Amino acid sequence: MKLFDSLISAVLPFTPKPLIRVVANKYIAGETLNDAMATVARLNQQETMATVDVLGEFVKNPDVARQETNNNIAVIEEIARRGLDSNLSVKLTSLGLDIDKEFCWENLRRVLEAAARARNFVRIDMENAPYTDSTIELARRAQSEFAGHVGIVLQAYLRRTQDDIRQLASEGMHFRLCKGIYIESETIAFKGREEIQQNYLECLNIILDHGCYVGIATHDDVLIDGARKIIAERGLGSQQYEFQMLLGVRDGKRRELVGQGHRLRVYVPFGRDWYGYSIRRLKENPSIAGHVFKAIFTGN
Ligand SMILES: Cc1cc2nc3c(=O)[nH]c(=O)nc-3n(C[C@H](O)[C@H](O)[C@H](O)COP(=O)(O)OP(=O)(O)OC[C@H]3O[C@@H](n4cnc5c(N)ncnc54)[C@H](O)[C@@H]3O)c2cc1C
Repeated sequence: MKLFDSLISAVLPFTPKPLIRVVANKYIAGETLNDAMATVARLNQQETMATVDVLGEFVKNPDVARQETNNNIAVIEEIARRGLDSNLSVKLTSLGLDIDKEFCWENLRRVLEAAARARNFVRIDMENAPYTDSTIELARRAQSEFAGHVGIVLQAYLRRTQDDIRQLASEGMHFRLCKGIYIESETIAFKGREEIQQNYLECLNIILDHGCYVGIATHDDVLIDGARKIIAERGLGSQQYEFQMLLGVRDGKRRELVGQGHRLRVYVPFGRDWYGYSIRRLKENPSIAGHVFKAIFTGN
């Protein structure tokens, strides 16, 4: 990483929130459900599907977790009411995983019931390593009761992921595969860019060997090209996979993939709890923050 980018990453946590907000605006649909639905409608007009995320994580208060549960149900109901092409992504720590696993399961179950009623789908995001086992456990429980309405995310940077795929694939799980965004120790995670890319493509092949559906979540040209090659070699139909990208990232590449006939879904986060998500996105691409900071401080 360039020195200036490293500097930006280091100062981000000490940067005033209003300034972060300005820089992070491109990654977030807005604060309200209406903002999120407007973004989804715009994406749908561009032949692009969506997955909506109510921002929020690491909730410690049961009342807040219940409110988050209601907010997620409201998203599912509003998608159905407006006839939009979108599903829901949810972080289990927003539903109370940090408070109590059974409490979280009850909340997740309510969200899944709403999704099943609306014939929709809930993607369980994967958080940092202390939550991997419990997230997989609840996803398996969800799969046994709500098959077809639930899927999990696995992270190619984790050394355990190929084993997790084998176990979950035998239960018919629906996957999103991403590199992984959290900072994990070398004992459990690959650290080199190339070894993560290699593991990503191996994981993708294992998922497809098992005949499972996969969301290929990446903006990395090496992985997009590798995935396109695998798709062509296997002669996959468009109902066996989709590409996935984050709102505000590589819109040109997104349009290229859609133009080539691939199904593509954009992750649309919204809500007032935007800070943690935005900091992660900006650390991923500090040069964006750098341009804005430069403009703000130098006036050009
Ligand atoms: C739909 C979706 C869902 C995800 N869900 C999860 C999850 O549940 N758990 C999890 O740990 N991680 C999740 N991630 C994040 C993922 O793990 C990666 O951290 C992220 O996608 C960056 O990796 P990459 O494969 O795009 O490769 P990178 O090498 O990071 O990016 C490739 C290129 O994309 C562009 N780019 C990437 N990020 C940005 C950015 N923020 N701003 C501007 N340009 C950028 C740059 O041009 C970069 O060179 C998700 C990602 C996507 C797309």
